[in-house]
Amino acid sequence: IKPVHVIGGGLAGSEAAWQLANREVPVILHEMRPVVKTDAHHSENMAEMVCSNSFRSDDAENNAVGLLHEEMRRMNSLIMAAAERHKVPAGSALAVDRDAFSEDVTKQLEDHQNITIERGEINGIPPADWDNVIVATGPLTSPALSKAVLDLCGEDSLAFFDAIAPIIYKDSINFDTAWYQSRYDKGDGADYINLPMNKAQYEEFIHDLNTGEKTNFKEWEGNTPYFEGCMPIEVMAERGPETLRFGPMKPVGLQSPHTTDKAYAVVQLRQDNKLGTLYNIVGFQTKLKYAEQIRIFKKIPGLENAEFARLGGLHRNTFINSPLVLDGLMRMKADTRLRFAGQITGVEGYVESAAMGLITGIFSAAERLGATPTPPPATTAFGALLSHITGGADAKTFQPMNVNFGLFPALEGKVYKKERKPAMSKRALADIDAWKASLAF
Ligand code: FAD
Repeated sequence: IKPVHVIGGGLAGSEAAWQLANREVPVILHEMRPVVKTDAHHSENMAEMVCSNSFRSDDAENNAVGLLHEEMRRMNSLIMAAAERHKVPAGSALAVDRDAFSEDVTKQLEDHQNITIERGEINGIPPADWDNVIVATGPLTSPALSKAVLDLCGEDSLAFFDAIAPIIYKDSINFDTAWYQSRYDKGDGADYINLPMNKAQYEEFIHDLNTGEKTNFKEWEGNTPYFEGCMPIEVMAERGPETLRFGPMKPVGLQSPHTTDKAYAVVQLRQDNKLGTLYNIVGFQTKLKYAEQIRIFKKIPGLENAEFARLGGLHRNTFINSPLVLDGLMRMKADTRLRFAGQITGVEGYVESAAMGLITGIFSAAERLGATPTPPPATTAFGALLSHITGGADAKTFQPMNVNFGLFPALEGKVYKKERKPAMSKRALADIDAWKASLAF
């Protein structure tokens, strides 16, 4: 059997290589470290965790990332097995001894008879005789490879910085205050959810933005330009108290049906996924610390009880516009020899990246073994993430996403709110077991 080439030995590439190799497909895993370094990695180990040592919640019943852990375990994940062997106490979260963890992953890959590790950068589109390739080069993909992808797919295909506005579950918004309307009733007239502020509320909000605690850019992130159209909201607020009222919070062309009062400023939420379960706060990309975002944004009228599917952020992060450039099996439409996996596909976080590596490894193995790859159902955490990045998200505003229950299709019938997450988890685990059983290899 001809080898599959996996480029990048991070969380995703390691998992992809493992899934292929365990299906008797030979793998050449290309990792550029230590020959070429990144600004964030410190070692030459595979699956290095560059910042926190946590895989987040391990609660499979009530937390979507915990559910993804469990689905990965059921799919014989290398990352989950190594995490289990090196876990450290962290309450209901899964945290690990990071050095022991990545040394273990490296050893498992080095010892596998179907895996060859080659150290060195792949600095362009792979040669024509590599007919089955997984690109898993992560948020810090080397500049030469990034440029090659841009040249192949065009300007809209790749971003170098994320600018994430907080995303809210629609069913946690208070519609006694909020209302649907597009500015001047353009479009179909009801594309946005609007939240009004009076003068005192707006002034307090500006004060909060100016004084709220922010995270710093890493030294090496400082030079990356983010100013085009995605300035952090607190930077806009710093420019003067009226900047936001004449920018993303302008009240003109909007009138609440709940009152005849004119709003002094309006916060707008825009639909974030096709299912219509998630809304982002327009223009609210931010470097505020997570706890500060929750404190400040929950003061916005209508968001008192908001639940955040993800909080805002700005980071250097190379990622492709997956809804535009990938098909449903993670292949690049412009060159279907290439599959993409991991954070470069616009998922966010260690677990999501490893999960996309796992699933892509299975698709690639199926293709190599002459089987027809089928995606996992959208009711599973794997499938929900996959459907989001390859179709559910809007290519025009695509930004990286964590796994969350807002990405899952609604349950059938009426289910009380507090029972929804456990019911979705139960459905997901049954469906992942059935999908696994349906695989012919
Ligand atoms: P990576 O793990 O980065 O792996 C990509 C690999 O590809 C690297 O080993 C790299 O050396 C290699 N590579 C790149 N280009 C080439 C090339 N041309 N040829 C060959 N090899 C190449 N996520 C969290 O969940 N929690 C955090 O706390 C967190 N903190 C982060 C902090 C920083 C500074 C950064 C940049 C990211 C952080 N992330 C965090 C995101 C995290 O990096 C990803 O979730 C995860 O590492 C992505 O996995 P990956 O396999 O896609 O990429």
